[in-house]
Amino acid sequence: MIRSITAIAGVVMVVGAGTLAFAQDDAPRQVLFSNVNVFDGVSDTLIENGSVLVEGNLIKQVSSEPIEAPGAEVIDGGGRTLTPGFIENHAHLMLMGPSLSAMEANSTWEDFGIHATRMAEMYLMQGFTTVRDAGGANGGLRRAIDAGQIVGPRYYPSGAFISTRGGHADFANFTSPPGSDTNFSRLNMAQEVSGVDDVYKFGRNNFRMGATQLKFMQSGGVVSAFDPWQLLAGSKEEIEAAVQVASEYGSYVMAHSYRKEAIMSALDAGVMSIEHGFSFDCDIAEVMNEKGAYITTNLTAFDPGLLDIPAVKNQPSSLAKAISASATFENYIPNMKECPVKRGFQTDCVGTVEACNIQIAYEKHLNNEFFGPYQSMLTLTSIGGEIATLSGDFTNPYTAGKLGVIEEGAYADILLIDGNPLEDFSVVGTGDKWFDAEPRPDSPETIQLIMKDGVIYKNTLN
Ligand SMILES: [Zn+2]
Repeated sequence: MIRSITAIAGVVMVVGAGTLAFAQDDAPRQVLFSNVNVFDGVSDTLIENGSVLVEGNLIKQVSSEPIEAPGAEVIDGGGRTLTPGFIENHAHLMLMGPSLSAMEANSTWEDFGIHATRMAEMYLMQGFTTVRDAGGANGGLRRAIDAGQIVGPRYYPSGAFISTRGGHADFANFTSPPGSDTNFSRLNMAQEVSGVDDVYKFGRNNFRMGATQLKFMQSGGVVSAFDPWQLLAGSKEEIEAAVQVASEYGSYVMAHSYRKEAIMSALDAGVMSIEHGFSFDCDIAEVMNEKGAYITTNLTAFDPGLLDIPAVKNQPSSLAKAISASATFENYIPNMKECPVKRGFQTDCVGTVEACNIQIAYEKHLNNEFFGPYQSMLTLTSIGGEIATLSGDFTNPYTAGKLGVIEEGAYADILLIDGNPLEDFSVVGTGDKWFDAEPRPDSPETIQLIMKDGVIYKNTLN
C-alpha cells in the first residue's frame, strides 16, 4: 500500500503501488471524476452518471452532466459510486490496550505514539478521511498528519479525558492517593478533577495542547475498574465549567453519559455531543432536538455476544455490570427509531490495530442491521461532518470547506466504491463477525479509491 510520502517544493507525491497524486506548480491541480453515481452525503438517491471536479483540496463542481475541464486529470469511475470520505466520531487512537491498568503501568509515550501512527493510517485506508478522538490524544498526531509526516485522516483530538476520582478515566493504581501523578496525567491523556478550578485548569490546558473539544466523563463503564456504569459523576458546576472553558475556544463538550439523569444534566449544562447515551428515550430526543445536540453510540454494546467477550466474562465484576447494563439499555434501538436524533458513527475501540480494523467493520455492519443503509450512510458522512464542525470557527483546524458532503466548496474527501451502498451496504467494507472474525485486509477491496484533501492515497482502478 502506501510506502512513503514526500513533499517537494509544494508538490505532494504519494508513492506506492496503485497510487497517484501530483500537483502542478502553477495552476491548481484539477482531478475530474467522470461516469460516477454520486451519494452526496444527504440525499437518499444517487446523482446518476454524474461528474465531480476537484481543484486543489476542494470540490469545485458537481454535475449530472459531463464537466469540461481541459488539463484536469480524468478518472473514469466506470459507473461506481462516489461518496464523501467516512467520518469516525469516537475513536481512541492512542489507546492500544490490552487493558487500562496495563497502559497505566507499562506504557511510554513511544508505545502510545507508535500505536496511534499505525491506527491513523489504518483508519484512512478503511475509508475514514476524518476521525474525532474521544480522549487520550493531544495535538501532536494531528500536526504530523497535517504536515504530511505520516498518513492519516483529518483529526479532532479531545486532549486528556476529564474525569472525577473513581470515574471512567481514573486509570490510577488501586492504592494511589487522590490527586497523585499518574502515567496518564504526566502525558496529559487523563486528568483527575475535583472542583471547578481543576476543570478550568485541565480544560484550558487541553486546548493549549491541541484539543479541538473537551471530553467529560459522567458515567462509568463495564470493563473499567472503579466505576459502576450508573455513576453520576461531576457536579452541575463542574460540567458547566467544562462548557465554559470550551466556549472560550468557540468549541463544545462531549460527555460520556449512560443514565437518563446524566444525559439530561449534560444537555442542561450545554453539552452538545452525548457519547454512548444508552438510556436514550423520547424525552431526551425532545431536548436534544431543541438544543441541536448530537449522539454517538457504539452499537457493539447491543451485540448479543457481548457477555462472551473475554474482557467481560473473565472478570466477575464486569460480567455483573454487563448483565445489568444490557437489561437497562434494551430500548435504545426502538427509542432511536421512534424519536430520531442526529447520530454519529462510533467504534470506541481500545486495542490492537488488527482488532480495531475488525471492530470498525463490525460496527459498520451493525449500523446497517439496526438502521438500514441510508441512515447508516448519513451517520458515516454528513452527520459526522456536522459533529466535527461543532469545534467552531477558530478551533476547528479544517475550515476551508464542509466535511462529509459532496457539494461545491466542500473538502475533496472522496471515495470510489464498487456497487451502490444504499442497496448493498456491505460494499462499504462491513464485517459480520467480531471476536471470532478472520483478520481483515488493510483496505476493503470494494473501496477502489481514497482521496483526502485532494490527495489520492489509494487507487486500484485500472
Ligand atoms: Zn470512548
